[in-house]
Amino acid sequence: MNCIICEQTANATGSHIVPASLIKNCVGKHYKEESYEIDSNNSSINTYFGRDNLKNTSTEIKQNHYKRDFVLCQKCEDELAKLESEIAVDFLQRFREDKYSNNFEELNLENGFEIIIPKKTNNKTFLAYFYSIILRECKILEIEDNMQILSDEESENIRKFVFGYLYNQDNDSAIENYKLVIIFDKYCNKGSYVATSNEFEKPYLFYFCEAIIQLFTSNPDDLGTYLFKETFNDINLTKSKILVGPQEFYETLRTKMAEKLADTFMTKGILKICKLNGKSYEENLIEYHNFIENSTEEMENKMIALNKLIEKYGG
Ligand SMILES: [Zn+2]
Repeated sequence: MNCIICEQTANATGSHIVPASLIKNCVGKHYKEESYEIDSNNSSINTYFGRDNLKNTSTEIKQNHYKRDFVLCQKCEDELAKLESEIAVDFLQRFREDKYSNNFEELNLENGFEIIIPKKTNNKTFLAYFYSIILRECKILEIEDNMQILSDEESENIRKFVFGYLYNQDNDSAIENYKLVIIFDKYCNKGSYVATSNEFEKPYLFYFCEAIIQLFTSNPDDLGTYLFKETFNDINLTKSKILVGPQEFYETLRTKMAEKLADTFMTKGILKICKLNGKSYEENLIEYHNFIENSTEEMENKMIALNKLIEKYGG
C-alpha cells in the first residue's frame, strides 16, 4: 500500500486518523479510551477499551478505532505530527482559557455567530491540519468500507494541497475554490463524535470529535452564502476564522448527524433481522419495540438495543 499523501511506500504504524489531541475529550485519556464505533451501514457497534481502561478485561488486542497501520509513510507521519502539535499547543489547549485571550481576536457577527481569530497561527496551517484529517478519514472509509465521500478529483486536489504544505511546494491553487467552516464549541469541551456520512455533500459534513467541519467544494447556495459567508476559510485568507458559538448552533449540528446515523442504523438493522428470521419488516419493527419494553436490562441507547436483538437472532 502507498502513503495516502506522498504515494511512497506506507511504512508507518499506529498512525492516527484523527489527531489524539483533537479526540481526547471524546475517548478519554490515551490508553484509557472507551469508544464506540458505530457502523450505521452494517448496524453494528464495536466497543473499544484502551489497554489501561479498567473495563478492559480482555487480553485480545482490538483495533483502536482511530489508529491504522500502513496508510502513511514515516516521513509524512513525522511532518503531520509537527503540524498537529502546533495546532494543539496554540489553539486546542488555549482557546477556551481566559488567560490566553490575547492570542485571539473575538468577533460577534450580526447573525449571532461568535468568531475567534487565532493571531499566532496562520490560516494555511489550519487548512492543512483540517484537510489532512478529511483526507485520512475519507481514504480510510474508501479502503475499509468501500464508501466514497469526496469525488476522485476533490480527493486528489486535497491530497496535492496537503502534500504541498508538508513539503514546501505551492500547491495552493488545487483548493482555491474550496471553503471550510471550522466549528468548535467555546462553552464546552465534550465534543461530538467521529463520523461522516455520504448523504451530505453541499456542504460535506465531518465530525472530528471537538471539531465539526463544513466543506464547500462548489459555490454555496444562497442560504449557505447568507449564513456562512463571514465564516468561510479559503486559501487566500491570512488568518482563520473559527466559529465557536452560540452553543445552540453546535448542538444543532450534533443532533443532525446523530439522527442521520440512527435512522440508517435502525433501517439497516431491522432489514438485517428480516434476513435472519424471515419475518416482514413490520413484524420485526413490532418485535423490536416489544423487545425494548420487556427487557429487564436497561437499554441506554436505541442502537445498542437493536444490536442486542440482532444478536438474539444469531447476527
Ligand atoms: Zn508519505
